[in-house]
Amino acid sequence: MDLLLTDRTVVVTGASSGVGLATSRLLLSEGARVVAVARDPERLQRAFDDRGDRDHVLVAPADVTDRAAVERAVAAGVERFGGVDGAVCNAGRSLMATISDTTDDQIRDELDLKIFGAWNVIRAVRPHLAASSAGAVVTINAILAKQPEARLAITSAARAALLNLSRTLAEELAPEGVRLNSVNLGLIDTGQWRRRFETYRDEGGPLDYDAWSAELAADRGISSGRFGTADEVAFAIVSLLSPRASYITGAHVDVGGGVTRQP
Ligand code: NDP
Repeated sequence: MDLLLTDRTVVVTGASSGVGLATSRLLLSEGARVVAVARDPERLQRAFDDRGDRDHVLVAPADVTDRAAVERAVAAGVERFGGVDGAVCNAGRSLMATISDTTDDQIRDELDLKIFGAWNVIRAVRPHLAASSAGAVVTINAILAKQPEARLAITSAARAALLNLSRTLAEELAPEGVRLNSVNLGLIDTGQWRRRFETYRDEGGPLDYDAWSAELAADRGISSGRFGTADEVAFAIVSLLSPRASYITGAHVDVGGGVTRQP
């Protein structure tokens, strides 16, 4: 099926790794153009070096918490491709810490990243999306937003705030013809988990990655029994960006392998 994304331009944050990179690649394979945003310019450039369709990518390094930097990245995308039709607010990480070992600065940083990481992007792309015939935003969130976990208290709270924000912005943007949906992730096999596994191994953990991740999946009540892949998430994101999803807005889609634990 043609997803009608050919020559559409999409800003993807966190595009150098994991979900953002898989989404960018899928968009490119659908004929879209990508404004790729992340902080480390070299890693970002490297991520797209092997692409035959490099002329469809604009590497635009920026920290999503920096309003001016995000505006510059979006403006560069508009100048290069003539407009912006979509945005994927994906950049981020999580803060795993207990109440005893969380500093006030970490709390502020986490809220800053979750809220401004989406807000700055949506504010910058909004006029361009309103001018597009297919304006759409996807915010990347976590199932944690609805099912908070101990040791992820601040991240869970920040994600709940982002979910709430996404719903209200979907309503505000609908009259402008812009759709906004959320994709909530469970456990997805990306750099974040590979880094956590390295820490586990450094601390003497005996399991290999497959056994370690299967144990975690069982512990979290994931009925599929495994982590998801970035490609599996990218499919959900790109489907929601497609003009074929024209009647879907204000929705939140879980990509979590059937997590059964409920609050
Ligand atoms: P990765 O660690 O693989 O990639 C994170 C990306 O975000 C990188 O490109 C990184 O590049 C970029 N990034 C981080 N901070 C900033 C910033 N301040 N400004 C701009 N870019 C930034 O993460 P995943 O693909 O696993 O995660 C994608 C999103 O999904 C994240 O928001 C994450 O919190 C969320 N998520 C992931 C889950 C999982 O299991 N993987 C579960 C639930 C939610 P650079 O460092 O160069 O800036």
